[in-house]
Amino acid sequence: MHTPESEPVLIATQIAKTFPNQSGGLNIFNNISITAAAGESIAIIGPSGAGKSTLLSLLAGLDIPTSGNIRLLGQPISQLTEQSLAELRAQHISFIFQSFQLLPELSALDNIQLALDIQGQNNSLNRAKEWLDKVGLASRYHHIPAQLSGGEQQRVAIARAFATSPSLLFADEPTGNLDEQTGAAIIDQLFKLNEELNTTLILITHDPSLAQRCQRRLKLHNGELEEL
Ligand code: ADP
Repeated sequence: MHTPESEPVLIATQIAKTFPNQSGGLNIFNNISITAAAGESIAIIGPSGAGKSTLLSLLAGLDIPTSGNIRLLGQPISQLTEQSLAELRAQHISFIFQSFQLLPELSALDNIQLALDIQGQNNSLNRAKEWLDKVGLASRYHHIPAQLSGGEQQRVAIARAFATSPSLLFADEPTGNLDEQTGAAIIDQLFKLNEELNTTLILITHDPSLAQRCQRRLKLHNGELEEL
């Protein structure tokens, strides 16, 4: 997708989110604005329950804000049909999770190949192999997630996330389930590919070494997003 050169890949303006409940609604935040340029890396930090995951879901177009506007890759998401939004996500947005979230019954190779097939890419098998080679897992093509260590599973998830050449990659605590050394290797991999592919990274983290590697750090607390 070609976002106009001058337009950031993500623009959220004055977004609010309230979850319905029996006492009139649980307001998480009222007025959050954020802009992300192509290739930028942004860490979102803040205490548990501050609304970081909620914000990530809104920015990625997985949930809709109660008010405010979000433009993803030049498109105002409130004006897209459910199907066009799903298409936009499939083509241009990737996710990495704390718990890896690979499909448990598929091999490492098949997990990546499936993502490429969904995107409609040719030659998905060879490309999936190239991506596993790139993240140092050439000897693990046919292992299912249960046969891989946490660090290896996250490498597969990183390969899957970048293989589709996303414009935007969202990650929720990508090193949260890994020991320090394994986490550091995952961080190196993430930023190497961020530079190589100019993917915008927006990630939630409690890991200071990960937050420090990002170009920008935003702290969400008491319903406000503060640029540190
Ligand atoms: P964080 O990621 O910063 O820990 P979350 O975004 O997960 O915070 O949650 C923020 C608040 O929103 C929490 O109080 C949580 O219980 C509430 N919340 C999150 N999702 C929902 C939902 N779908 N329905 C109702 N409340 C929710």
